[in-house]
Amino acid sequence: MSERNRRFVLRERPSGRIGPGTFEMFDEPVPNIVEGEALVRTQWISLDPANRGWIRDVPSYVPPVEIGEVMRGLGLGRVVASKHPAYREGQLVTGPLGWQEWAVTRDAALLQPVNEIAGVPVSAHLGALGMTGWTAWVGMTDIGRPRPGETVVVSAAAGAVGSVAGQIARRRGARVVGIAGGRDKCALLTERLGFDAAVDRQAGDWREQLAAATPEGIDVDFENVGGEVMDAVFARLNLRARVVLCGLISAYNDVEPPPGPRNFRILLTRRVRLQGFIVLDHLERRGDAVAELSGWLAAGELEVLETVVEGFERLPTAINMLFDGTNVGKLVVHVADD
Ligand code: NDP
Repeated sequence: MSERNRRFVLRERPSGRIGPGTFEMFDEPVPNIVEGEALVRTQWISLDPANRGWIRDVPSYVPPVEIGEVMRGLGLGRVVASKHPAYREGQLVTGPLGWQEWAVTRDAALLQPVNEIAGVPVSAHLGALGMTGWTAWVGMTDIGRPRPGETVVVSAAAGAVGSVAGQIARRRGARVVGIAGGRDKCALLTERLGFDAAVDRQAGDWREQLAAATPEGIDVDFENVGGEVMDAVFARLNLRARVVLCGLISAYNDVEPPPGPRNFRILLTRRVRLQGFIVLDHLERRGDAVAELSGWLAAGELEVLETVVEGFERLPTAINMLFDGTNVGKLVVHVADD
């Protein structure tokens, strides 16, 4: 095969933000497969806050990416050659392809086939119909469990998980307030996604905005951010509120762990149930999640937001959009077409 395989390998663990020295790009021949392997051409790569955690050398729910190893990442691509019974040529698949233009797999369970839906971009299978949507669905449906009329607050609400989580809560009959960075994102939440109110965390009066948007307190906090946003939300939690601890992105680039949370005592006095979760523990719910979300999408009842960055070589810079808040919805890198 004459094409080349560009791959990003972890060169050094960043202290703070991912920088120009974090990854190194290698340009190698496309691998040839042997019996028991399949070759996938990467088309899309998902950028996730978790990518930052995976290059930290600390105990976590998965082992860290080693120095010299191809960067771990979820992707979507087409099987172009197969000597593995679980994969057939031409099949569209999604899974941990890594930051590389071509991926070889020997593992039958690693990649899932993608069932394309007419009119829906395939990249949605990394977003609302992929790990992102599954996370939002499990967190809201099984952990937050909002009841009709309750107030749900979602942080990073214009992001990939948050935008879906908020729409799910709306569909379950809750009153939904989103917290996002900037006026445009806030307008998007209320005007396009049907949120009842939005709070601009970049505005000087964001705490007052939060109070005004939650006059009856908060019953469910779908927490994506942590830090001062979470502190302010905790202060408004109602008796027997639920905190769905999905992520703490405000601290992912921190060198030292943050000193907070400041309002932790409220969890005690208001008998709050806080549950952290990692979506990979909820494999048995993926089918239900994807079925419901696909149905809404096909019926035009779920808005899918996406920020597309063009070009494989931009992966190491694009990842920082998540921490700068410059993505809207799911952040994906477009690597190649069919
Ligand atoms: P997003 O698309 O939401 O992007 C991240 C957003 O976070 C940014 O756009 C920005 O939005 C906000 N943000 C970034 N830095 C800060 C900061 N310092 N303070 C406040 N807000 C900040 O990413 P995802 O939807 O992919 O992920 C959202 C969360 O869900 C993350 O915490 C992630 O780790 C978690 N997650 C957890 C999973 C699980 O299994 N538990 C699985 C998948 C994701 P804005 O500027 O608009 O506030």
